[in-house]
Amino acid sequence: MEYTDYSRLTETEQVKEALAKVRKTSRTWGVIIVLLPIVIAFCVGIFSKGITVAKALPIGLGVSVIFLIFNLVNWVKESAKKPWKGVVVDKEILPVTNRENSSGTRDKYGKKRDTTRHEVRLVHVRDEEGKIHTIEAGVLSGYVYDYFNVGDQLRFVPGFPFPYEKRDKSQDTYTICMWCSRKVDLSEETCPRCHKPVIK
Ligand SMILES: [Zn+2]
Repeated sequence: MEYTDYSRLTETEQVKEALAKVRKTSRTWGVIIVLLPIVIAFCVGIFSKGITVAKALPIGLGVSVIFLIFNLVNWVKESAKKPWKGVVVDKEILPVTNRENSSGTRDKYGKKRDTTRHEVRLVHVRDEEGKIHTIEAGVLSGYVYDYFNVGDQLRFVPGFPFPYEKRDKSQDTYTICMWCSRKVDLSEETCPRCHKPVIK
């Protein structure tokens, strides 16, 4: 196998089921996080002498409502994402700036980036409609920046935790696991870390 084109694995039942599982897990966590403040407030009301349940509960409820709104907005945003294909047009590293630089740092395309804690590594991709999408490589995932080169074709596959797949992987020895964002050897069928199929 040369891996010169996008993987067909994303069309398989195995991968579709795994994606559904990822969605389910994130929904379950969403519900837990939303309910947690109410539960904590209730416990504080019962076990603490200083505050009654009647006083603690409205506070917990308030925090829960904030979490609920946050989750709903996120969920709407995530479900609105559509697949696209594009080409890497630019890569840039923004150096660390000190906090006094209040105007902030902007990338090549004018978007504000927080460079006060660490340098920011960006991969800019132009989709078929001309829109620029930027992949920000985290502090711990500098290899994401190295993995993509200017001129590389890639596609965005919504639903994956790391939703980008490079089209031509024939020159690479590793890829980035679309499930757990870690570096994985291209010869692997299953990611050794998250045990999900390597999309290649
Ligand atoms: Zn993995």
